[in-house]
Amino acid sequence: MIDSYGREISYLRLSVTELCNLRCRYCMPEEGVCKKRHEEMLTQEEMLRAIRAAASLGIRKLRLTGGEPLVKSNIVSLCRGAAETPGIEEICLTTNGTLLPALAKPLREAGVSRLNISLDTLDPEKYRYITRRGTLEEARAGIEAALSAGYEKIKINTVLIGGFNDDEIPRLADLTRRYPLDLRFIELMPMYDSGDFGPEAFIPYTVVTERLPELEPLPGDGGVAKLYRLPGAAGRVGLISPVSAHFCTSCSRIRITADGKIKPCLHSPDELSIKGLNQEEMTEVLRRAILSKPRWHGELSYTQRSQANRNMNQIGG
Ligand code: SAM
Repeated sequence: MIDSYGREISYLRLSVTELCNLRCRYCMPEEGVCKKRHEEMLTQEEMLRAIRAAASLGIRKLRLTGGEPLVKSNIVSLCRGAAETPGIEEICLTTNGTLLPALAKPLREAGVSRLNISLDTLDPEKYRYITRRGTLEEARAGIEAALSAGYEKIKINTVLIGGFNDDEIPRLADLTRRYPLDLRFIELMPMYDSGDFGPEAFIPYTVVTERLPELEPLPGDGGVAKLYRLPGAAGRVGLISPVSAHFCTSCSRIRITADGKIKPCLHSPDELSIKGLNQEEMTEVLRRAILSKPRWHGELSYTQRSQANRNMNQIGG
């Protein structure tokens, strides 16, 4: 479907839960989330209905995210149901990776073809600090499990945080030499409550090209990342700049939260509810949401924070 600014909307990000087994400081508060009542959240059948409704409007790519999608007990059957939806051509999943040792294979068999795995540091103590409860060892085991499960593409997502991991840029990028995966540095977004980071934490993506002048630019692949390769590397380095150089003009996304709110734009407070609706009604609300997508998300900076009135775990990154 084409939105009011001529953009083709073909990509749905569905958050399957707000819950997470980690507590990344830029994403959610230490005490987790005030657990909503079961009845407030979309059921598996409602999620599959929403995917069918979206597919009927031309959505072809689906990403399941959260919270942490792998803490959801029915995640494999949800992926299987999504893969059986006519029109859905690609299923991707974003995860912190820690539960992949048990789930990488079943998810691949259920039809997930691409994984994005979050990893902000290669230092065990810093990993513990940023996630507040995970271990680097678990995350690495998850990445290894994903690499042996036959995914079409594996990407590592690293949130660039000044004073925390900018000193690790070369080491992190070097993973693309050692493994057949892409590493993407993502600018830290100033969300509603993204921890106690000061202005120095919000650094632009250009810091990466300054630190790694040997990066060779590659043509774009239709995604939001500016792509590069280290000489001789199997994988690519991607730079994603939602803050310093937004990509709203080519936005193809629509989002649905785990509690059934369509978010036409990640950084807007606007939400349209689909909880409890039948497929025809969901299709109609989705159509309205797509037509109400704003032209861009507005200025983002340390002082001008996202207008979204939720943290990332409650939206789905
Ligand atoms: N639990 C999964 C994970 O860790 O990947 C999926 C959900 S998480 C919200 C999805 C992505 O959003 C992660 O790559 C995370 O690093 C990113 N993210 C969360 N808060 C962010 C922020 N304030 N700025 C930039 N990226 C953020």
